[in-house]
Amino acid sequence: MITTGPRLIEYSNIRWNSDWCKRCLICVEACPRQALTLRDDAIVEIDGRCDQAGLCQRLCPDLAIEVIESGEGRR
Ligand code: SF4
Repeated sequence: MITTGPRLIEYSNIRWNSDWCKRCLICVEACPRQALTLRDDAIVEIDGRCDQAGLCQRLCPDLAIEVIESGEGRR
């Protein structure tokens, strides 16, 4: 049997887990820089806005979003 890990999408500052996310939008509403949005059923980081405050990571009830070190994400 082949198993696959959760579907992870990496942006410049954020790693988002599409399988764990229930699209509650807590992270979108909590971000002080309005750096996140829901687009085509995916949480998307808006370029140039994230300052890695980390509220999304702390408030997500499903551990579905995390701030990554600058340069850690794919470009
Ligand atoms: S807070 Fe977590 S579960 Fe809710 S939309 Fe954001 S990433 Fe998804």
